[in-house]
Amino acid sequence: MEEFVKGGAFLVESISPQEIFTPEDFTEEQRLIGKAAMEFTVGEVEPQIDDIEAQKEGLLPSLLKKAGELGLLSGDITEEYGGQELDKVSVLLMMEKMSQGGGGSFLVAYAVHTGIGSLPIIFFGNRDQKKRYLPKIATGEMITAYALTEPEAGSDALNAKTTAMLSPDGKYYILNGQKQFISNAGFADVFVTYAKVDGDKFTSFIVEKKFDGVSVDEEENKMGMKGSSTRSVIFTDAKVPVENVLGEVGKGHIVALNTLNIGRFKLGAGCVGPSKSALQDAVTYAKQRIQFGKPIAEFGLIKHKIAEMAIRTFTVESMVYRTAEMTDQILKRIDHHAEDVGIQMARGIEEYAIEDSINKVYASEMLDYIVDEALQIHGGYGYIHDYAIERGYRDSRINRIWEGTNEINRLLIMDMLTKRAMKNRLPVLAAAQKVANELLTLRPKVEADDGKLTLQKEMVEMSKKIGLLVAGAAVQKYMMKLAEEQEILGSISDIVIEVFAMESALLRAMKTMEKLGDEKSQIQKAMVKVYVNDAFDRVEFFAKQAFAAIAEGDTLRTQLSALKKLTRFTPVNTIALRREIADAVIKIGRYPF
Ligand SMILES: Cc1cc2nc3c(=O)[nH]c(=O)nc-3n(C[C@H](O)[C@H](O)[C@H](O)COP(=O)(O)OP(=O)(O)OC[C@H]3O[C@@H](n4cnc5c(N)ncnc54)[C@H](O)[C@@H]3O)c2cc1C
Repeated sequence: MEEFVKGGAFLVESISPQEIFTPEDFTEEQRLIGKAAMEFTVGEVEPQIDDIEAQKEGLLPSLLKKAGELGLLSGDITEEYGGQELDKVSVLLMMEKMSQGGGGSFLVAYAVHTGIGSLPIIFFGNRDQKKRYLPKIATGEMITAYALTEPEAGSDALNAKTTAMLSPDGKYYILNGQKQFISNAGFADVFVTYAKVDGDKFTSFIVEKKFDGVSVDEEENKMGMKGSSTRSVIFTDAKVPVENVLGEVGKGHIVALNTLNIGRFKLGAGCVGPSKSALQDAVTYAKQRIQFGKPIAEFGLIKHKIAEMAIRTFTVESMVYRTAEMTDQILKRIDHHAEDVGIQMARGIEEYAIEDSINKVYASEMLDYIVDEALQIHGGYGYIHDYAIERGYRDSRINRIWEGTNEINRLLIMDMLTKRAMKNRLPVLAAAQKVANELLTLRPKVEADDGKLTLQKEMVEMSKKIGLLVAGAAVQKYMMKLAEEQEILGSISDIVIEVFAMESALLRAMKTMEKLGDEKSQIQKAMVKVYVNDAFDRVEFFAKQAFAAIAEGDTLRTQLSALKKLTRFTPVNTIALRREIADAVIKIGRYPF
């Protein structure tokens, strides 16, 4: 696997449009899979949203079962165990379409069951465990949940208090403890959970609800995702057969951390669907709401919002499917007949853990922005329960909290990058040194827009250099104590996130331009021009903030003057470009691609 180390490489490499996958590259088969998921959402989920939100007894499990009958639960499961073994692009497309249409609470049940609830068994289960559980998980006959969080162990998840002691006859582990905020807990049959064997060996277990000593508490009364089930799971001398240890005793952290990577990987796609729905709702409303004698869609400030919603959706969509296909490339290279195929797959997915964290943070914040602006376009009506956006706004908020809060993911991005750099797996330090050496002569090669995205490409390259420069300065100043400087790490992470976002959108538009020509790529190009223009200013801001904390006096002045040279670009007319984008979106009435 070593030779394929690529995660984080976007920071130090110059990548061509042909090297990335875009939604325009979906195959016919992938489109059909997406269509089947969309039909399920429209036909089965949307008509029942009120009942789902009211937590009608048995409804979510029966919907999951129906999805199972249609093969919509088994994309990640191998054929040997009744699954479809789809590529990750297809799996994410399915996730995106399941998340469209405002069925957020159904999506929670679906995402947990097909993601963090079952993937630990797919990756780390032995043959017997896979045979016992996966065929039933594939059909929805058994529903899964993932029970990691505890009242005193949230972000600090490995600090679990739940204990597991081997029974005197050696046949069972006896679990005691409580898991908090567990999605699907109300109807799940199987929990992948964690406890410390002998008080210190953090270990993963497959626990069935029917085992003695397993119970669930009352439903939590939540802000959003009200139809989903969230309960505590309580283990009181719970008897778990020793055959149900998942992975190895003392190696639960490997199961836990890999599972969270996968959760993040999928969460990005789960934010794309609701973004498209919110945009469509907002545009539909703006076209029919008359104020001052005309539809509000004709006002510049409303067009600004519509354009920005479309631009950010385009950006995150570009990031998510680029990452999915990069992951597929790695997964293609593993031996699918090997005994440890699952572990190899988890490792393959871990390769892009940096990008997964980036996508998680970016997508969840993008969705919050979009639902907020969509609600604003609805004016007072957006605040009223009868309008779908009121629910969309509440449902969105949790995405910044689960699968590792966005604070934790920002820290992880830098932690993973630093570890890869230190192990010489990623030449970040050498690249940072090179930029520092070239600083006196370094200048952007292009300063104004030529209509071919050359300027934007240069701005992305400069952003990479700025990120490396700040990271290099931070490492040099704080060395091993850098982890204590969370605010600086957060600023550098924000630069890294913006680089991946800008580059994914840019390369996609360039690829479309090469494939379809100038006219058909016009709106994508306009989106990239606006996005890069604004994101570049944010990169400069984060860099300034970090430099001002890292250095002072002459050193700081030198760093800031270098930054000024690297950021000398003429801004594009984002007002005109946003109007052009908004007009295209308003005309078609939805996200345009
Ligand atoms: C509706 C819902 C469903 C959920 N579903 C599941 C599920 O299915 N399975 C499951 O296991 N869990 C689930 N969770 C739990 C969720 O993953 C946790 O809430 C989350 O990990 C945060 O933990 P916490 O709530 O204890 O917050 P804390 O860890 O207490 O964090 C509080 C704040 O402090 C910040 N913080 C914490 N540590 C640091 C640090 N080192 N540096 C900087 N800032 C820090 C956090 O970012 C956050 O802003 C769910 C939660 C909710 C609300």
